[in-house]
Amino acid sequence: MECPFCKIVKKEANAHIVCETENLIALLDIDPINEGHILVIPKVHKASIDNISVCVLTEIMKLLQKIVTALKEIYNIDGYSIMQNGGEFCDFGHAHFHVFPSYKNDGFGWKYPEGSFECSAQIAERLRNKI
Ligand SMILES: [Zn+2]
Repeated sequence: MECPFCKIVKKEANAHIVCETENLIALLDIDPINEGHILVIPKVHKASIDNISVCVLTEIMKLLQKIVTALKEIYNIDGYSIMQNGGEFCDFGHAHFHVFPSYKNDGFGWKYPEGSFECSAQIAERLRNKI
């Protein structure tokens, strides 16, 4: 199966596009968590952000900022969320950033695993040495 995002990039599939530049496209998610749920995708087919140029990632972040501003102006939002799943967890193997309005009591949330603060200190140190 050809990547549906690449088909949208090549204009071989329809999408509700809200912004397009040389390097990226932003479109409405077909299965939104809340109205205004947008996907920002680089035009290059890569599953992981460490394989995407810093220039394109910077452009994506700037667009995410504009989208957040627009969501605040259009909807009476309590907040917003931005997510990107990479590698094996990236649908279609084509990186895409979710950005969507969030509201108190909309059911979208985060589950925190049990863990000790000491354990977190070791995790932080290990990551600090690699970043
Ligand atoms: Zn693709």
